[in-house]
Amino acid sequence: MKISFAHMGNTYIAISGALKVLGAEFIIPPFTTKKTMNLGSQHSPEVVCLPYKLVMGNYLEAIEAGAEAFLMIDSLGTCRLGEYSQSSKNAMKDMGHDIEFISLDVYKGKAFELYSGFRRATGNGNPVDLIKAINILLIKIDIIDNLDEAYSYYRARETQKGSAKKAFNEGLKLIDAAMTPKECQKALNKGLELLKKVSIDENKNVLHIDITGEIFVVLDQFSNMDIEDELGRMGAHVHRKIKLSNWSNAFLKPSLFKLRETHEDKIKKLAKEFIKRDVGGDAIESIGDAVSAGNKKSDGVIHLLPFTCMPEIVSQNIMHNISKEKNIPVLSLILDEFSGKAGFITRLEAFVDLAERRKKTRGAN
Ligand code: SF4
Repeated sequence: MKISFAHMGNTYIAISGALKVLGAEFIIPPFTTKKTMNLGSQHSPEVVCLPYKLVMGNYLEAIEAGAEAFLMIDSLGTCRLGEYSQSSKNAMKDMGHDIEFISLDVYKGKAFELYSGFRRATGNGNPVDLIKAINILLIKIDIIDNLDEAYSYYRARETQKGSAKKAFNEGLKLIDAAMTPKECQKALNKGLELLKKVSIDENKNVLHIDITGEIFVVLDQFSNMDIEDELGRMGAHVHRKIKLSNWSNAFLKPSLFKLRETHEDKIKKLAKEFIKRDVGGDAIESIGDAVSAGNKKSDGVIHLLPFTCMPEIVSQNIMHNISKEKNIPVLSLILDEFSGKAGFITRLEAFVDLAERRKKTRGAN
C-alpha cells in the first residue's frame, strides 16, 4: 500500500523519516502550489477553512502520483479539525477514489495511536521498528525547530541576502537524510555549523517580532506566503511561537518525559487573564503567546489566522485588548485562497515601520 500524507511546512521530513525506518512505500505529495490550492478549493465546501482546502489539494495530487492510503491527524476537538477526516473521506468517495484513510486520534491516544497507525499503514508490526520510527519522528520534529530557531537569528543579521537560507536548506537536507538518532544529531550540528559560517552583523539593531496563530498557517510557508523570510528580509528577528515540537511535546510524548513545564502549560496560564475557557483550535495558544510577547516587551506580534477559522476569530477580537493593556502592536492577518502577495507585503512593511518607530520612541524615553 503506497502511503501518503498532507503537507504542513517541513513536517514531511519528520513523517517520511519515520516511514523510511519502517521500510514503507510512501509518496510525498508535490509541494503545495497555486494549482494545489485551486484543485483543493474545487472539491471543498466554499466556506471551509483554508487548511482543509490545501490538505484536499495535496491528497488529490498524491492520488495522481499513485497514493493508495493517507495518514491523517483526527480530532474530536471543538473546531472543524474534527470534521476533516470524515469530510475528506466522503469527498474522495464521491469522486470515485478508493482510498484508505488511517486516522490518528493523537489527542486521545497519544504515542500509542501513532504506534498502531504506523503499523496499519506500513504493515510492519515489529515493535522495535515501530518504536524506532516514533523516536525518529519526534527527534526530527525537535531538531528541525532547533535549526529553524538558529536560522531566524542569522537571517535577520546576514550581510549577504539569502546566505542564511542557503545554509538552512542544506541543514534540512542533512536532517532529511539522517536515519538514526546519532545521524540526526550529527545533521543538526552540521546544519548549525553551516549557519555559523554565514557572515552577519552581530551588532545590528534588529526588531523582535513574535508570530503566533493557527498552527497550520503558522507552520506552512505556502499558506503564510513565507512570512518569516519576508520579515527576515526586512531585518526582523522572528520568534515563531507555534512550533510542531511544542505540540508533539504536549500531545505525543508520554508525561513521563515531560521534565519541565511545557510551552502549552505556560501560555495557558498567561492566557487566563484574557480568556476563561478553551474555545478550540489554537486560540488559547495565540492569546497566551501575545500576552507573553507583551510581558517580555517584544517589538510586535503577528497573529495569523485562516479565513473562517472559528477559534481564531475569537482570539482576533481579544488581541485588541492585549495590545492595549500590554502596550504592544498586534497585527492580525487573515489568510485565504484570495490573499495576494503584494498587499500582504505592504501590510507587513507598514507594521515593521510602525514597530521600528515605536521602538525608537521607547528607546528615547
Ligand atoms: S483551528 Fe481553525 S483553521 Fe484550523 S482546523 Fe480548526 S477551524 Fe479550521
